[in-house]
Amino acid sequence: MSKKIYERPFIQQLNTGFMNKFGTRTDFGPVEHIDGVPVKNLIQEYGSPLFVMSERTLRSTYKSAVRAFKTRYPKVQFAWSYKTNYINAVCNVFHQEGAWAEVVSIFEYQKALRNGVPGDKIIFNGPEKKREELELAVENRSLIHIDHFDELYMLAELLQNSGKKARVAIRMNMDTGVYPMWDRFGFNYENGQAWNAINKIMSHDEMVLEGLHCHIGTYMLSANAYAIAAWKLCDLVQHTKIKWNHKIQYIDLGGGFASANTLKGSYLQGADIIPTFDDYAEAITNTILNFGFSKEDLPLLILETGRALVDDAGYLLGSVIANKTLSDGRRATVFDFGVNILFTAFWYNHKISPAQYASHHTEETVCYGPLCMNIDVVNDNISLPLLTPGNHVVVHRVGAYNMTQWMQFIQMRPKVVLIDMSGKVHIIRENETVDTIEERERKPEHLSTFELK
Ligand SMILES: *Cc1c(COP(=O)(O)O)cnc(C)c1O
Repeated sequence: MSKKIYERPFIQQLNTGFMNKFGTRTDFGPVEHIDGVPVKNLIQEYGSPLFVMSERTLRSTYKSAVRAFKTRYPKVQFAWSYKTNYINAVCNVFHQEGAWAEVVSIFEYQKALRNGVPGDKIIFNGPEKKREELELAVENRSLIHIDHFDELYMLAELLQNSGKKARVAIRMNMDTGVYPMWDRFGFNYENGQAWNAINKIMSHDEMVLEGLHCHIGTYMLSANAYAIAAWKLCDLVQHTKIKWNHKIQYIDLGGGFASANTLKGSYLQGADIIPTFDDYAEAITNTILNFGFSKEDLPLLILETGRALVDDAGYLLGSVIANKTLSDGRRATVFDFGVNILFTAFWYNHKISPAQYASHHTEETVCYGPLCMNIDVVNDNISLPLLTPGNHVVVHRVGAYNMTQWMQFIQMRPKVVLIDMSGKVHIIRENETVDTIEERERKPEHLSTFELK
């Protein structure tokens, strides 16, 4: 074996933007427009920070999800997951596209009703449903997805001698090969609890078992997990048919499809590794179609996709407050948005683009928010060109969960605007003011005044 050739080490300047040994870097190009509207104008008119929703992206994402399933399976229905983004304008885009509503609390239930969703097109999920809430859902003929036996018994009790019938499903949890298993919601498949719940429901004349439901996790990187879940739902549909001669109308695979965001610690970009709608649809529909149902007995397939439908359509615009050098020499940039309104920064490395021309020289940068709190880190290591105070940035894929999980802490929440199909901008949620916050406060008389010396 011959000796290896020695190459002396050398330093070579790599020009970003050109082909080099790391490939071509295109990530730092400025994003100056969203759906044709200049970012500068949006910030000038509506302030910074600002959430922007693209109606165009909402509709096109929804359509591609529906297409993936409907071209493979005859009976498909989407139900919009309110908790993922319950701003009414966003919900109504999905309702206009044909989505029912999927809610996990009475608050979301009321929002869906007020948006005009008929009661029988609302799926009522979640571990907490009070007696009067269940009564309302029965009255409205909503689909009640029972989470535990105590809920089942409460429902049985309130239906007794009422002359009314409830349309119900059970939420199931199961081993799909993805761990940790989400087994705190619903009835377990493997240990027989789900089958037990089905038998209890079937023995009650006041409850009509219309569906079986599961929601196996969120940001699921395995399409195959859905194939396993679908098989286990189909299994109990068939057992119910055999034992009770009762046809279960639908199976609901819940949400959990991944959006193209990149998880912290992921070596590869989210967009390169997540399954597509087609991958998920293939796994689910093949399982149902090959299970052995006759054509008439094929169940309706319901999907409660949340983040994968809305993440891409949301942007957060913000401004640079300051730059500083940390004690270890790293560059840090402070923005006017933090984890208070970008909650998903805790688990995603959000892509951040400059909103104006920036140099090609990038540096590893720590991005901080405006909170006087050490945890307020928007990104602990991102390659960015130098941005100076007053510069603007665009944070991508923030449509899911941020506008519901945001917190009013130190700062107030900013405006949310929607760019419609024609490029017109609409405010869909006003920013909070001191009045918004103080409106809820009450000062006891003896604490209303003081004197400082
Ligand atoms: C949160 C939730 C969804 C939506 O989940 P995503 O991961 O955003 O797709 C759907 N169904 C139920 C029951 C949920 O709790």
